[in-house]
Amino acid sequence: MIEQSALTQLARIVGKENLLTTPEDLACYGFDATPRLGRWPDAVVKPGGPREVSEILQLANREGFKVVPRGAGNNLSGGSVPIQGGLVVQMNRLNRILEIDTENLTALVEPGVVTSDLHAAVEAIGLFYPPDPGSMTVSTMGGNVAENAGGLRGLKYGVTRDYVMGLEVVLPSGEVINTGGKTVKNVTGYDLTRLMVGSEGTLGIITKILVRLIPKPEAKKTMLVYYRSLSDAAETVSSIIAHRIIPPTLEFLDNVTVRCVEQYIHAGLPLDMEAILLIEVDGPSSVVEEDAEKVVEVCRQHKAAEIQLSRSAEDSLRLAAGRRAALPALARIKPTMVLEDATVPRSQVAAMVRQVQQIADRYGLLIGTFGHAGDGNLHPTIVCDERDRQEMERVEKAVDEIFRAALELGGTLSGEHGIGLSKAPFMTMEMKDAGMKAMVAIKRALDPNNVLNPGKMYLDDYAAGHGARGEVLSAAPHGSVLGSGF
Ligand SMILES: Cc1cc2nc3c(=O)[nH]c(=O)nc-3n(C[C@H](O)[C@H](O)[C@H](O)COP(=O)(O)OP(=O)(O)OC[C@H]3O[C@@H](n4cnc5c(N)ncnc54)[C@H](O)[C@@H]3O)c2cc1C
Repeated sequence: MIEQSALTQLARIVGKENLLTTPEDLACYGFDATPRLGRWPDAVVKPGGPREVSEILQLANREGFKVVPRGAGNNLSGGSVPIQGGLVVQMNRLNRILEIDTENLTALVEPGVVTSDLHAAVEAIGLFYPPDPGSMTVSTMGGNVAENAGGLRGLKYGVTRDYVMGLEVVLPSGEVINTGGKTVKNVTGYDLTRLMVGSEGTLGIITKILVRLIPKPEAKKTMLVYYRSLSDAAETVSSIIAHRIIPPTLEFLDNVTVRCVEQYIHAGLPLDMEAILLIEVDGPSSVVEEDAEKVVEVCRQHKAAEIQLSRSAEDSLRLAAGRRAALPALARIKPTMVLEDATVPRSQVAAMVRQVQQIADRYGLLIGTFGHAGDGNLHPTIVCDERDRQEMERVEKAVDEIFRAALELGGTLSGEHGIGLSKAPFMTMEMKDAGMKAMVAIKRALDPNNVLNPGKMYLDDYAAGHGARGEVLSAAPHGSVLGSGF
């Protein structure tokens, strides 16, 4: 609850046109792309700069209301859901690309810049910002940094973390810090930049981002490769890398996903294959030709049933269309889609996909698995109907087993979508007691009043003394409608 006097002060800070309080407006800020999680905020503000963000946070500490930063609200783990009510701080007014420095190869952007707008701006002058989440045409740079977003080019080029050189951050106290900078080397003090990347809006509100750029690759070649056997596809992935070729894109679609994609885009994909790989190689033209030939050879050695190779930029787009359509294709099947991103070492991709298939059979669910095979980051996607209680109970159990399987195979709960609310109850499975204590200590040191994005990543529950996962499940069930207002 935010008192009327505090709302008056918020209107003074951001201007009354940037303060939203009507039910129609609040309804839009109570959820994100995660199914079945929602709660209306008490108010929404759209600040115009770091000073306003700082004043908002100082007011929140004085008045005791909670603050949830928000970019495009596109995340898949409930990170921007204001689960304890309070104030949503919508960052999209701060949407300028402030500088592209062609000598130091950096770009300075505000957090509300849409990721693909940065791509377009730097590519127009022969430069390249590689992180490319599937949501890049809507997601913001602030949200990408706060989630440490990955993308289809992660295998060769890494994820958002690998490109963030410095940040301007408003701490929960309202103090503004600047981390990192344009120097290639910087070992001064703790690496606060890395601490903030992936902190999911729990440690500070990011108001400027300095990213590293690289020269744009000269050429690219795309291949679509069909496999009758899942194991052959998985072995191809490891074998390509063993041949010292690191493709930017090495994507996987299982048979369930291929069927849904074909129903959706009618691209002529074969329905009798266990797996399809989408592979792209890039770099100088001569190297690309050579690498493409080697990749084709490796695919043949691993019993590829068919290989389609791009001859032009349009061809590349056509071949990649099936992978790009995977999510919307699955989303059409049933009203609810639970999309996970359990991640395993590359060598365990086939084992993980098989376990997901067995889990799907055991619980009578339709699960399509696609994702970034090259970095072991799979997206088992359960298509279901949230109105069917019995089915949702089976979904809960299946998700639990998927996480356990990933951890048992040496993997992690999340490769790129973050923990937020939906994976919070599973945190101790991976972080263990000492890891959680260290995280809570950092959170308490920076945010003693717990004003910033509370309830996320299991920090509150853990600090409150819930040591075991089972105890917390009733407080924050995975994928359930939480709180009031919906
Ligand atoms: C169709 C689809 C495809 C996707 N594909 C990918 C993918 O390939 N790879 C991937 O990694 N993710 C993917 N995602 C997930 C999502 O797009 C990313 O998590 C993205 O980074 C979210 O950005 P956003 O601007 O929407 O942030 P939001 O969802 O608004 O916020 C995300 C988190 O960041 C915090 N936050 C936002 N802005 C700030 C700020 N300025 N300062 C501090 N904290 C802030 C929020 O509090 C929240 O915790 C996909 C989502 C969809 C719907």
